[in-house]
Amino acid sequence: MNSKILSVLSVLLAVGLSSAGSSAGPGGDDIPGERAIINSHMHASSLGGDDSVYLARVIEEMDSLGIEKAVLHINEASDVDTWIRAAPGRFLAGPSFPCVKAGEGRADSCSWDQGRWPSIDWLRENFEDGTFAVMGEMYFVYAGLSPDDSRMDPYWSLAAELDIPVFVHINRGPPPNSPFRPNGCCPNFDSDLGNPALLRPVLEKYPDLRISLQHAGFPQMPMLGDIAYIEETFDLLRDYPDVYVDMTILNSVVPLPVHRAAVRQFVERGFADRIMFGTDNLDAGQILARYRSMEFLSESELRGIFYDNAARFMRLHQPEKSH
Ligand SMILES: [Zn+2]
Repeated sequence: MNSKILSVLSVLLAVGLSSAGSSAGPGGDDIPGERAIINSHMHASSLGGDDSVYLARVIEEMDSLGIEKAVLHINEASDVDTWIRAAPGRFLAGPSFPCVKAGEGRADSCSWDQGRWPSIDWLRENFEDGTFAVMGEMYFVYAGLSPDDSRMDPYWSLAAELDIPVFVHINRGPPPNSPFRPNGCCPNFDSDLGNPALLRPVLEKYPDLRISLQHAGFPQMPMLGDIAYIEETFDLLRDYPDVYVDMTILNSVVPLPVHRAAVRQFVERGFADRIMFGTDNLDAGQILARYRSMEFLSESELRGIFYDNAARFMRLHQPEKSH
């Protein structure tokens, strides 16, 4: 999801739903069997305000809910100082691209030294010195560009060479004229490019590449604008064990029964251990409470969604962290 497009709704949600329903104390250690939490989908976004104020609020929310680290998609080079260096050890960060012309009167989604694209040399430098840990969110749908477009070749090649996980926005959404894709957003938006099967040529070339499919789990529902590629998602998970998912924003703005049904379907298909908790900057406490309410999840499946799956995907080598 484009963070700047999210900003209005995020503010609205943050006002009314802050930490709703969560019973976790600092460190999350009052929940039996639960340790730390990783948020696998966040954006460096000041919500149009002061970055340092918003960052302080983000860290406060993370601390209050036991969220140890968050995958952070940044939008411009200055975010390295404003976000990554301002909160050492809290973010697994990397740049979003290809950047999207957002339309008249709206800020572009991101901007780099090569315009829509970060230069390979700059990326390599930041991966090698540990400033960056991920690539993405990849905005193929918004940019109207296929994952196997030749302009992506050097980026896939770099991710494979340096073993960097890549986070890709999938599915047809957000639907036109929703709060997430307002009028004027993204003249090149092409919903067909949200099909995860389009990642197959990339994975055939780089079978060990780690990819997170962002916004997975949406069912075929006319009320959602028929935005899902659910079977294509399962097919990719079956064929590539290093492909994982998050369920943003199904896990927050879509009614709980739909989210529940999606999680249950992943469990039944044998993919509970590929789901990673993520927020896309929406209310983390509310989303954690939803997962905790899913009584069909075993304790280890729940801990997997909150921490172990992301730790495995990100190769943090600390899946059994304890307090
Ligand atoms: Zn996003």
